[in-house]
Amino acid sequence: MTAPTYDLGRLHGGLRLPGHKEASTREPILDVPIPAQLVLPIEQHVGQPAQPIVGVGDRVLKGQPVAEPDGEMGVPVHATSSGTVVAIEPWPVARHRGDKAPCIVIECDGLDEAFAGPEIVDYRVLEPADLLLRILDGGIVGLGGAVFPTAQKLMQARTCKTEFLLLNGVECEPYISCDDVLMRERPAEVLGGAQVLMHALQIETCFVVVESDKPEAVARLEEVLADLGDDRIVIKLVPTIYPSGGEDQLVQLVTNREVPSGGLPTDVGCVVQNVGTAAAVYDWVVRGEPLISRVTTVTGDGIANPTNVRSRLGTTIGDIVGRTGGYTDRAHHLIIGGPLTGKTVSTDEVPVVKATNCVLAVARSTYTRGQLPCIRCGDCADVCPVQLLPQQLFWHANADDEKKLRDFGLTDCIECGCCDLVCPSHIPLTASFRIAKGRIRELADEKARAERARQRFEARNERLERERRERDEELARQKETAKTAGPAAIAEILERRQRKHEDDAS
Ligand code: SF4
Ligand code: SF4
Repeated sequence: MTAPTYDLGRLHGGLRLPGHKEASTREPILDVPIPAQLVLPIEQHVGQPAQPIVGVGDRVLKGQPVAEPDGEMGVPVHATSSGTVVAIEPWPVARHRGDKAPCIVIECDGLDEAFAGPEIVDYRVLEPADLLLRILDGGIVGLGGAVFPTAQKLMQARTCKTEFLLLNGVECEPYISCDDVLMRERPAEVLGGAQVLMHALQIETCFVVVESDKPEAVARLEEVLADLGDDRIVIKLVPTIYPSGGEDQLVQLVTNREVPSGGLPTDVGCVVQNVGTAAAVYDWVVRGEPLISRVTTVTGDGIANPTNVRSRLGTTIGDIVGRTGGYTDRAHHLIIGGPLTGKTVSTDEVPVVKATNCVLAVARSTYTRGQLPCIRCGDCADVCPVQLLPQQLFWHANADDEKKLRDFGLTDCIECGCCDLVCPSHIPLTASFRIAKGRIRELADEKARAERARQRFEARNERLERERRERDEELARQKETAKTAGPAAIAEILERRQRKHEDDAS
């Protein structure tokens, strides 16, 4: 048996927070029945939305692709049960409050009839490039919340000198426990997925990283690892400190290598995948089931029976909360994701998507505090895991000073919310950083749009100039011919000109 190891790097800042995870981990994962209707957003990942390949009235089967990838960062979307497409229309989604996005709506027939996907072959005989294409076809994205397309991330890692695969089972944000219960209940799929990923990457070391407050998950992983006898996989324990599960923080903790500002873990030889993503890779590559369901924590003071559920993607939040026993009368608002990094939604009609790791129903009093002026205590800087100066960033965000925000490293902020939690003045620092980042992105988009418009304008002017030159040259040629040729040649020129006028007019 491989013993968990503790030789760790140092994490700057961070906080020890109350976990609030006991309530949702008492019972096994609850399987939510297939609902009457599924709502599948075509944009469930970072990158271009998928493009629908079905129409209203089409019958679809479980696992059938219903939207295909568009562009380099595209990922397909699959029907998550059998039924009929009844609409392709905007629907509320868990992005920003009140947002709607195009969704494929399927009325389920209750048969759950499966689509015949590609033949399952032993992944070990596949070339890594072919295995990556297969992972792409499964619609798999990072299930830790980032939803970065998995195949593309692995492809990028293949172009670097990647040494280590880190499977992220840290799940450090309070309330969220879906990865913990997944590791307890499906350790074979997690470790099997690690083996598939190692073959795709052609690397020999995988660290499965788990927080020290998850002894049951560690025990189950150790048990399965002993049966597998794969000594390329090592379980590592990290202390329970938020946000040790951030990609760069995890790399720092496990390998003592620092991801450079603006860089990626692959810059220091590492690639990070969530444990749920590894299990999804295994389900698709070894069992032939694409990403059509996921485990979600349903918890908070506003939930009558906090637990973890497995539901088909496209099931609405209202449906899954209903299956767990409903809301309490303290429920005030809904957050999709954790209390620090999640997004508030205004309706429980939003569907479960690939990113939905947690549904948190919050009671009125939990997170409401009045804001006071900054007293320059510096506590926010002490806890920032990226070693930023949040109080300065807040100042520049208010002044809308893009240059200063960049100079002070706003783009490195991982929006963990630690600075908010310690701020005695209750200043909403992270929210202001999110807004400032959005503005910087908009400015960059605007600049890119203006640059494209400038290029189009110059290309048009060049074309008009070229056409004018060609016309002048042709006219000069014709004049020259007229000077030297007889009446027959002149008649031919005039006839050619007349034909051209007629062509242009038609
Ligand atoms: S939200 Fe950003 S600035 Fe605040 S502690 Fe986290 S990384 Fe630092
Ligand atoms: S923790 Fe709050 S009050 Fe203290 S320096 Fe930071 S922003 Fe100002």
